[in-house]
Amino acid sequence: MTIASTLGYPRIGRRRELKAALESYWSGQSDEAALLAAAARLREAARTRQQGSGISHIPSGDFALYDHVLETALAFGAIPPGYGWDGEGPASLATLFALARGARGTAAERAAGIAPEAPALEMTKWFDTNYHYLVPRLGPDTQFRLVQDRWTEALREGLAAGTRTRPVVLGPVSFLLLAKGAEGTAPLALLPRLLPAYAALLRNLAEAGAAWVQLDEPCLVTDLPPGAAESYRTAYRALAEAAPGLGLLLATYFGGLEENLPLAAALPVTGLHLDLARAPEQLAPALEVLPRDRWLSLGLVDGRNVWRTDLRAALGLARQAAEAGFGQRLMVGPSCSLLHVPHSLAEETALDPTLKRRLAFAEEKLAEIALLAKGVTEGDAAIAAALAESDAAVAAARQDARLHDPAVAARLAAVTPEMERRESPYAERAKAQQARLKLPPLPVTTIGSFPQTAEVRALRAKLARGEITTAEHDAGLARLTEAAVRWQDEIGVDVPVHGEFERNDMVKYFAEQLAGYAFTKHGWVQSYGSRCVAPPILWGDVARPAPMTVRWAAYAQSLTQLPMKGMLTGPVTMLQWSFVRTDIPREAVCRQIALAIRDEVADLQASGIAIIQIDEPAFREGLPLRRAAQPAYLRWATACFRLAASVAADATQIHTHMCYSEFNDIIAHIAAMDADVISIETARSDMELLRAFAEFDYPNAIGPGVWDIHSPRVPGAEEMAGLLRRAAARVPVERLWVNPDCGCKTRGWAEVRPAVENLVHAARRLRAEAVG
Ligand code: GLN
Ligand code: ZN
Repeated sequence: MTIASTLGYPRIGRRRELKAALESYWSGQSDEAALLAAAARLREAARTRQQGSGISHIPSGDFALYDHVLETALAFGAIPPGYGWDGEGPASLATLFALARGARGTAAERAAGIAPEAPALEMTKWFDTNYHYLVPRLGPDTQFRLVQDRWTEALREGLAAGTRTRPVVLGPVSFLLLAKGAEGTAPLALLPRLLPAYAALLRNLAEAGAAWVQLDEPCLVTDLPPGAAESYRTAYRALAEAAPGLGLLLATYFGGLEENLPLAAALPVTGLHLDLARAPEQLAPALEVLPRDRWLSLGLVDGRNVWRTDLRAALGLARQAAEAGFGQRLMVGPSCSLLHVPHSLAEETALDPTLKRRLAFAEEKLAEIALLAKGVTEGDAAIAAALAESDAAVAAARQDARLHDPAVAARLAAVTPEMERRESPYAERAKAQQARLKLPPLPVTTIGSFPQTAEVRALRAKLARGEITTAEHDAGLARLTEAAVRWQDEIGVDVPVHGEFERNDMVKYFAEQLAGYAFTKHGWVQSYGSRCVAPPILWGDVARPAPMTVRWAAYAQSLTQLPMKGMLTGPVTMLQWSFVRTDIPREAVCRQIALAIRDEVADLQASGIAIIQIDEPAFREGLPLRRAAQPAYLRWATACFRLAASVAADATQIHTHMCYSEFNDIIAHIAAMDADVISIETARSDMELLRAFAEFDYPNAIGPGVWDIHSPRVPGAEEMAGLLRRAAARVPVERLWVNPDCGCKTRGWAEVRPAVENLVHAARRLRAEAVG
């Protein structure tokens, strides 16, 4: 008997109901009861959907109001002081949201004892996904206790509705490895304190009637730090003893176990889940070492991408496991939680039917899982029709001529090494650029976007509804752009931007103008909290039929004598923030995009734009989890950037921008991108990034962000000047730029105006000091 299972389900709701409920609660339009009721409805819908699709092991406790890592920390009482928790019982919603979003200074927060300045916890990417989790902050005084048993509550909720679910808990070792220790605390050292709380949880679950619990340990697919293997052994020995009758499923995902396989296989758990979408090759070695009394859970359906499963191939892997002796103890499921894919294809009525036939979102993936379980248990004949349909889809995809554009192939084949190199080295380019641009020292610029105000959004919405014509819409954009350019000119910005009012999304705007991309209507995936993204689907060869940005850039340039900066999204980011085809390597897809962006750079340059910024905020997140795989990625990712940029003549200045970029460890590769200027986020980390420059002599120009645009706070000119002075101690002033951390699209003009003026004043102060 093979069990159909899932590891986690999207939380946001088919129509982003969670987003609506959260935003309504935050704005004070609805109360706690309404928010909790909306959440309960979403959990119920997820249960019903999974059950109705034939899944027997349905997850619970995978839902979170904001983030499952934060809610795990709260459940175990790992709550820093200052957030209004008195040390007893469940934390309030006010505490939860203050940790998630920072204190807002409301009366309710004050009443709850939350410090008015309490900042949000640090947020970072969940492994190599575009989901963000909140990093638990643990200190020497952290005491763990199960203060809110959210998992037993979730189990009971399912039982009351007649469903025995499988609680999903972030495992203790991954929890600690994902946390941050304050005041010299090594999180892993806190394991002995944490384990009793986990043991209490497992006992509660067993007592409440759980048969299985899923313990997520995705860190097992990474290079483990010293001590982690021993922590795993200690932890699972304790957990196995805590509730002997309870089935413990150790879930690993986002890659293969590799050298951690013997460790995982030897842990005293009931079953092991393997990600066979990312790492199908790990099945054979796992079958060799895994004791035959274990259950084996096979992640056959890709939880990270939107492509339909090749049922016959997946069935082959499952049979291999059954024949190796796991036939009576086999589960099939998604590779990881389905959190990372959109809800349903059902409502995507506008998708090209041939493409749609190749896709599977969460709901469709459930059906695939049920079919696979049936096929393994009853044989191919039992799912003959579905197998035939799957085979046909695979064959159709292979034969689809639309996937391959011979012109793209020809251009790629003709790429020479010279095309990936600028004409002259940086020092010479810098001279040519300075002769042309005549910029003052410490030039002031911004990252590209200006506030996406209600007016901007209304223009877009009215055009979409057909209430205004394209000409009216564009006239509105032109007005906004003109005002932005004139203002920058007036206040003394050295390199103005046009403001990106025409763009709703930095990837979609370009993808819509490129061949090879398709778009969903409701393909939302949670990025963090209420924030969702709808990644485009990159299904075919990428080509650029016509210029994409020249019109707005040239218009903006016509309004000023200053050098207008042209704005592009880089190839790596276009790749990272899309659902990407899997029939050719990611590197090949990225090179196609690079050629398209290269064409745009050439056209901008030809139209007289002298400075072009190619944003790569997703460069860091593309880095493979395993160190061994990183050099290859870094090689092709930097090469793709250079391929896009190197059509620029010496006197054309190439900028790039990165945000959330902890790249102290990859600084040499950032340098290898050879952008003339890089702007990076640093204000929030208090110039922490600059430490990298102590060890590595970054050769080109750099603009460390001196205004944290994530916060509504407007820093004064002196504060910015202070940060610049610190930067100037590490980077020669001739190579220093003055800019914010990121684009200003999420801010209002009331903040942007004074902040950018302060940037100008700060730069002037520093210039005066430098000149003497
Ligand atoms: N140019 C973009 C902007 O200013 C960059 C955004 C980003 O890095 N995420 O909005
Ligand atoms: Zn940014």
